[in-house]
Amino acid sequence: MTTKIRRTKIVATIGPASESPEMLEKMIAAGVNVVRLNFSHGTPEEHRTRAENVRAAAKKNGVVVGILADMQGPKIRCGKFINGKTVLEPGQRFILDAALDLDAGTDERVGLTYKELVGDVEPGARLLLNDGLIVMDVDEVRGQEIHCTVVIGGVLSNNKGINRAGGGLSAAALTDKDKEDIKTACSIGVDYIAISFPRHGADMEYARRLVEAEGSRAGLVAKVERAEAVQDENLKSIMEASDAVMVARGDLGVEIGDAAVPPVQKKMLRMAPKYNCPVIVATQMMESMCDNPIPTRAEVNDVANAVLDGADAVMLSGESAAGKYPVEAVQAMDRTCRETEKQRVLPSTQTRDPRFPPHSIDECIARQAMEVARMMDIRAIMAFTHSGNTTLYMSRHLGDVPIYALTSQEGTLGRVTLFRNVIPLCMPINYGPQDAPQATKDVKKMLLDHNLAEKGDLIVMTFGTPMGESGGTNAMKIIKVGDDL
Ligand code: PGA
Ligand code: MN
Repeated sequence: MTTKIRRTKIVATIGPASESPEMLEKMIAAGVNVVRLNFSHGTPEEHRTRAENVRAAAKKNGVVVGILADMQGPKIRCGKFINGKTVLEPGQRFILDAALDLDAGTDERVGLTYKELVGDVEPGARLLLNDGLIVMDVDEVRGQEIHCTVVIGGVLSNNKGINRAGGGLSAAALTDKDKEDIKTACSIGVDYIAISFPRHGADMEYARRLVEAEGSRAGLVAKVERAEAVQDENLKSIMEASDAVMVARGDLGVEIGDAAVPPVQKKMLRMAPKYNCPVIVATQMMESMCDNPIPTRAEVNDVANAVLDGADAVMLSGESAAGKYPVEAVQAMDRTCRETEKQRVLPSTQTRDPRFPPHSIDECIARQAMEVARMMDIRAIMAFTHSGNTTLYMSRHLGDVPIYALTSQEGTLGRVTLFRNVIPLCMPINYGPQDAPQATKDVKKMLLDHNLAEKGDLIVMTFGTPMGESGGTNAMKIIKVGDDL
């Protein structure tokens, strides 16, 4: 009997707790589909070594694991304190001083990594520090100094992040560091690059030009984490310009308020199919597992709801990068996804809605394949694909028949690791125009060899004909495994 595959993908950030070759092997064995390299930490050489280790560990496990390089973006931070920290009391005055040295913070003032903050705030603006744990309101801007009154106090230590409630900061999405890091990521050959704090589609288009200038085909993930980005028009343009979006609930929650995050997550998951845009739900999904070997019931619910709403992937951040139980966190996500996927999910009608006609022939075939899988007892969909697009279109429909992406293209194998319900399968043969009958035989053999189907099972195969020509999928075949082998 074949084991049921998990449809929802798991993205795991690696860091000190998980980046050794031995730990990577365990993480991948536990079910990680995509590894996230956080470019906020580490040198280009360290990232390169991490990527090599991930690929080696994936190979040992006999699976394909995608690599996502996450850019730091214009995260605004306070400087360092002479004493390492200050304790802020509600009602006290405090100065964010763009003219102060970055390592000269005191109990009265601290420096800023982003000097332009001075021009971006006005009296009454609310600033949130350290992921919103500390709150201060701006009283006045005097030269390079932002004078504030502390609303919620606490310990403020070195290099903590600063957000403005409601958004409205002018910082561009790509910093000079990001531009360098994009070059590094491209040269490492990552599958995806995540852009932090994009405001609209134009920020993603700009990033695309930088990636293409490096000759890379890496997919672009937009991290939706800024108040501006969730406005309908901006979100739409971001989804149009990106290969995937991330509900980056950490910074987003600080900017728009925690209570506003769930409806945004739902909205994004509702909108995305129209733009054929995969969605990653991220941040604090299993947060308590930084310290505990099991998640809270609320965390399990959070993951389950993302699955039910059709997320392509759920993500681990600190839990897998720096927590005490990285492997257990992957296992907890894995079992939660599998259990939730047993629920009969209502098939998505969104992409089949006549208001959203297919854009191309391959998208049309992809939909028909999913339709057939719904109507008949189909065991698997075997999709020959050069770019992975056919499987992307298929996976926009919520169905439970596994979709295998058959390709000889290494980049495509990596790309599809993020798509819900799509399994990369290396097919190293390049077929000629008349080879469809041979390809059909090979597919049947592959299904039996890999234990993906049994004699007598029906499967759907999609391909481009004539074969071997680059061009889209335009054909679909329903075949019975075991016939004429
Ligand atoms: P980060 O992005 O972990 O890079 O900050 C994700 C988020 O803000 O949720
Ligand atoms: Mn963020």
